[in-house]
Amino acid sequence: MVKADAYGLGVAAVAPVLAAAGCRWFFVATLDEGIALRALLGDGAEIAVLNGPAGGSAPLFAEHQLMPVLNHLGQIAEWADFCRRDETLWRAAAIHFDTGMNRLGLGAAERDRLAAGPDMLDAIEVRLVMSHLACADERRHAMNRAQLGLFTAALTRLAPHLPAVTASLANSSGIFLGADFHFDLARPGIALYGGNPTPPEPNPMAEVVRLQGKIIQVRDVDSPMTVGYGATHRVDRPCRIATVPLGYADGFLRSLGNRSYATIGSTRVPVVGRVSMDLITIDVTALPAAEVHPGTPVELIGPGRSIDDVAAAAGTIGYEILTSLGARYRRRYSGGGR
Ligand SMILES: *Cc1c(COP(=O)(O)O)cnc(C)c1O
Repeated sequence: MVKADAYGLGVAAVAPVLAAAGCRWFFVATLDEGIALRALLGDGAEIAVLNGPAGGSAPLFAEHQLMPVLNHLGQIAEWADFCRRDETLWRAAAIHFDTGMNRLGLGAAERDRLAAGPDMLDAIEVRLVMSHLACADERRHAMNRAQLGLFTAALTRLAPHLPAVTASLANSSGIFLGADFHFDLARPGIALYGGNPTPPEPNPMAEVVRLQGKIIQVRDVDSPMTVGYGATHRVDRPCRIATVPLGYADGFLRSLGNRSYATIGSTRVPVVGRVSMDLITIDVTALPAAEVHPGTPVELIGPGRSIDDVAAAAGTIGYEILTSLGARYRRRYSGGGR
């Protein structure tokens, strides 16, 4: 899953590494993402576009050999119509059954109509049938088994009309629900990028993302004084405050003000005061003065401070932390042959 610029990490760097590692199926959300990905990967990769065709976009899917995910009967009709007229002979598509998200995919009534009138698939080459789990990150949630049952039933029902189709249900967390959920193809996203797919258990994945800043100013603050906009952090003893040049414009969420910490070496230092657009302030009093100066590296995400930890402090999920990472960072990729 490389939608949203590979979860904010840079699809141009990520997708070729996944392809080199053996990944053959790629999923994106939008047609534009699909076109860009085809240019990156060249022929050979299967690229599915989750949002499917809309408003006459079918020819672009064919031109770039993208597989639309057909989410409702209207999209099935649109794609079938195109396939009947098209001369490029690109007819590949995926069909998405909704088994409990109520977001995208054919619902129960549409499923029945498709089973009753399977000839609407005649012109289409269905390569994949998929569904998406709503609660896979809660191992014991009853939705998991219920959705598995509905997906299996839909596959059984359509099997005569879809010979040898590839079936896919599991996202990252779904993979860890057990082999019943694996079918032919899994669609991991967050786990590839180091998020924990098995909360509250320990993270089985390598944490691959690090976010570092460098201090640009250190100041001694007398007491009583306050730090930052709104004077939300009050200093009651003399302390030392360091300023790091990243802020909410860089995706360091404003809700992390007074709620998160950074690490310098192995020392945890709290983020104090509000997060500004371009700056944060951290209380470095716990460190010897000689160890904290302009240029000192500060880690905001990394070993000991996972994306899930930062997300919890911000009241969100690791996905939002990653996809919010801003454009001003210098990005360095290591491993994967790069
Ligand atoms: C985003 C997405 C995934 C990947 O989910 P993760 O939880 O990141 O593994 C899989 N399937 C669909 C349909 C998605 O939209």
